[in-house]
Amino acid sequence: MESNDPKEEYLNLVATVREYVSEQLEFGLFEAEINESEPEQKYADLDLSALNDDAQSCVKCGLHEDRNSVVFGVGNPNADLMFVGEAPGADEDRQGEPFVGRAGKLLTDIIKAMKFTREDVYIANVLKCRPPGNRNPAPDEVETCSPYLIRQITLIQPKIIVALGSFAAKMLLDTNTSISALRGKFHEYALTKQSENPPVVMPTFHPAYLLRNQSAKREVWKDMQQVMEYLENHKS
Ligand code: SF4
Repeated sequence: MESNDPKEEYLNLVATVREYVSEQLEFGLFEAEINESEPEQKYADLDLSALNDDAQSCVKCGLHEDRNSVVFGVGNPNADLMFVGEAPGADEDRQGEPFVGRAGKLLTDIIKAMKFTREDVYIANVLKCRPPGNRNPAPDEVETCSPYLIRQITLIQPKIIVALGSFAAKMLLDTNTSISALRGKFHEYALTKQSENPPVVMPTFHPAYLLRNQSAKREVWKDMQQVMEYLENHKS
């Protein structure tokens, strides 16, 4: 029977909430919800193909409104070497593939100079949809989209990730240090608790930057030589 006494109603409500909370804790449900919000845990039950399917219909941030394609990533799902850029541009948005414009052609040339093909490596971006007018990614867009990339990296398990440009380097290394200060050195990948063979990250300049600053090509080539040497010394 319902009570008309407000104090008694209040005490009943507290008892019900306490019972509910203890049940949730007993079954680990609160813990599951907390883990769900961790970027590393998001999409933890999806393989690469299911992850791609999920991304293709993603409307989690405003970038879905103007996109023609979701540019998920291409290449070898078991690649030792992964390249990560910032976001798709106009050509990539049209074709649904990362790095296919002028900057993409330059990246393909760099990959060939390293004695690989695009099919040997895996290529992706931090953002899967094009920011309008090629503006910089907004922090909330990076935060919303990056769990896709984090899951891609967990599934592919590369030995090295080459971070192309400032946005990719800052996200993968969880830092605000400039790309000029980061490049040329191996760093720890910051976004995994994977204890067995975690990838190392080599930040370098973005190919689009190289198109405007030809002299920086020499630095990028030095960085890629270090990458080749690392792969040679860590053959499985
Ligand atoms: S940018 Fe990423 S989070 Fe935003 S709509 Fe595209 S896939 Fe979803």
